[in-house]
Amino acid sequence: MDPFQYQDGELFCEQVSVSALSQEFGTPIWIYSKSKLVNEYRQIQEAFAAVDPVICYSVKANSNLSILKLLNEEGCSFDVVSGGELFRVREAGADTTKVAFAGVGKTDEEIRFALENDILMFNVESEPELDAISRIAAEMGKVAPVALRLNPDVDGKTHAKTTTGKKGNKFGMDFERHNELADKVLADPYLELRGIHMHIGSPINTTDPYRQSAEKALNIVRELRKKGHQTNWINLGGGFGLNYRGDEAATAQEYAEVIVPFVQEAECRLALEPGRSIAGNAGILVSEVVFVKHEGGKRFVIQDAAMNDLVRPAMYDSFHKIWPVKPSVAPPKDFEAELEGCPPADIVGPVCESCDYLAKSRPFPEVQRGDLLATFSAGAYGTVMSSNYNSRRRGTEVLVDGSEYKVIRRKETYEDLIAHERV
Ligand SMILES: *Cc1c(COP(=O)(O)O)cnc(C)c1O
Repeated sequence: MDPFQYQDGELFCEQVSVSALSQEFGTPIWIYSKSKLVNEYRQIQEAFAAVDPVICYSVKANSNLSILKLLNEEGCSFDVVSGGELFRVREAGADTTKVAFAGVGKTDEEIRFALENDILMFNVESEPELDAISRIAAEMGKVAPVALRLNPDVDGKTHAKTTTGKKGNKFGMDFERHNELADKVLADPYLELRGIHMHIGSPINTTDPYRQSAEKALNIVRELRKKGHQTNWINLGGGFGLNYRGDEAATAQEYAEVIVPFVQEAECRLALEPGRSIAGNAGILVSEVVFVKHEGGKRFVIQDAAMNDLVRPAMYDSFHKIWPVKPSVAPPKDFEAELEGCPPADIVGPVCESCDYLAKSRPFPEVQRGDLLATFSAGAYGTVMSSNYNSRRRGTEVLVDGSEYKVIRRKETYEDLIAHERV
């Protein structure tokens, strides 16, 4: 169920009026639905229940402490890609022994921090990283749990900037090297081989890339076991699709149908690292129209959310549904199709860059200065990628639960902008 619904001509998040929140806290404002977040997590958990999966929510999708806390209370585990994210997971009260740590550039400091916190496993992305982990574990008198991140050379058919599982990407190690690498781990008293990891990119809307990588994972596990290795974990990463436009993404059930049989055959534990599919449609970004102008034969709706708030359109040409909070035309099914009373508009922000837009040539109703706009599917890779570019202050984040709500990050002040600077 979509928690963001129009009722009596205005948008609600669960039972809370979006315009009331925007008035109380100002714009831009991020509004999240607790039930959506929790339900998306539960759906994945249930879809894969046959293999009792460990769902490591990918912290980088949305790392707000309250969101991590909520997921932790649901029994979720976590996938981190930096020491900072591991710190957040710990601050949220989660058990760090449930944390998987990926990333191609783990520093000594980060490796040490992870070992001190007894994480579940490092997803190791290079041979020099294996050496560094071994050296630091030895210094600390510990044995480091590692999974080999292998590049399965599978095409996730997603944006060039977010595909990670094709040969030649910076991620993981060449698939053909698994034997050699596993031998190296086994020969090292400070390393313990937990299993193998693959993450093919994001968002992957279809199931076939997962079928391909799960099959490769099964074959590797078999081969390694034949050689006497204990390989008990298959981690297939994250990347499940999100319905940004309509229903383009496969469901958790559909992903499970292709993945589970391979995991059962391998007799392995399954870890997954979904981020986007859990948080994405649990959040919206609300902005206010500042001006509407007509120049060069175009209509520009200039509003107070910008690429510093939501960079995805500028960075990945991403599509987000956008519609007024109190619309004069009911939201269409297809936001890209021509619509009567909705001539095309560019929806742009105030930042001094031509790539500062949330949408281009989009059928859009007439709006005026002061109207509120909702940008949907903004719960993942929204705030986490935001910045203070143009010395813009980031807005409030609010978490809605039924008819109640609370601020989970306050709006930044001008003083916040200069707080770390020294003159
Ligand atoms: C980014 C990332 C994920 C999460 O991807 P989503 O699309 O948010 O599900 C999972 N695993 C790794 C290693 C990642 O880098």
